[in-house]
Amino acid sequence: MHLQPLSSGSQGNATLVRAGETHLLVDAGLPLDELLERLESARVSPRRIGHIALTHGHLDHARSAGLLAKKTGARVHCCERLMSNASLRSAPSLARLTVGSPQPLGGPRGEEELNLRAVKIPHDADPTVAFLLEHAGRRAVVLTDMGHADRNVARQLADAHLILIEFNHDLELLERGPYPPKLKRRVAGDQGHLSNVDAARMLGWMAGPNLHTVVLAHLSETNNRPELARTCAETALADLGLRGVRVLIAHQEQVGPNLEV
Ligand SMILES: [Zn+2]
Ligand SMILES: [Zn+2]
Repeated sequence: MHLQPLSSGSQGNATLVRAGETHLLVDAGLPLDELLERLESARVSPRRIGHIALTHGHLDHARSAGLLAKKTGARVHCCERLMSNASLRSAPSLARLTVGSPQPLGGPRGEEELNLRAVKIPHDADPTVAFLLEHAGRRAVVLTDMGHADRNVARQLADAHLILIEFNHDLELLERGPYPPKLKRRVAGDQGHLSNVDAARMLGWMAGPNLHTVVLAHLSETNNRPELARTCAETALADLGLRGVRVLIAHQEQVGPNLEV
């Protein structure tokens, strides 16, 4: 299985997962033409996208899900309450995600299936989920847009080989920054986004001996700095004695590397 961040941040999120012949896009939050450009950069024909899985209904995650599904014939997997979301209006085929139970995404006959498991997380779009992806004994996590660290969520996403996790803001930069007070309270609140400190705490709870790569995602361009996020992540890993783990940062403007899980 391979995972490739195509875009990450408040302007739009999308992560490509390839497992054998199965191609899955987790979130489709960029405008359609930009999303198609990112797929081209990743050298993937849009026709190959068989599945789109949505974490939640905010535009920076769901924006083009329906349009891309219409163009590619992909099936959109989402929680029931999201099925009436305007972003999905043109989707030809919707599949209901049941939180907690693994959903096999069928590949060609005889090929090992990619399993998608949704885990409910706290955020101000209800429901919001993180994904655990399992294929041929490898595990990857995609976890963004989470309001606070939660041990129970971490337990359900534990022991992956690769973790993509939101490091949204530095609390001090947010506090001193230009956002209006109400927005500051929303971002820092229990149903907002993970601070670097909270994300590092989640990472510490989730990381196990199999972990080889961590991708820091959904960094705020206004309220964070890549080096601050990286320091928090690396400290959490060092505290666990996990020194060989690679730490990468997913970007808003460029396609990331195609990472082997
Ligand atoms: Zn978001
Ligand atoms: Zn959101």
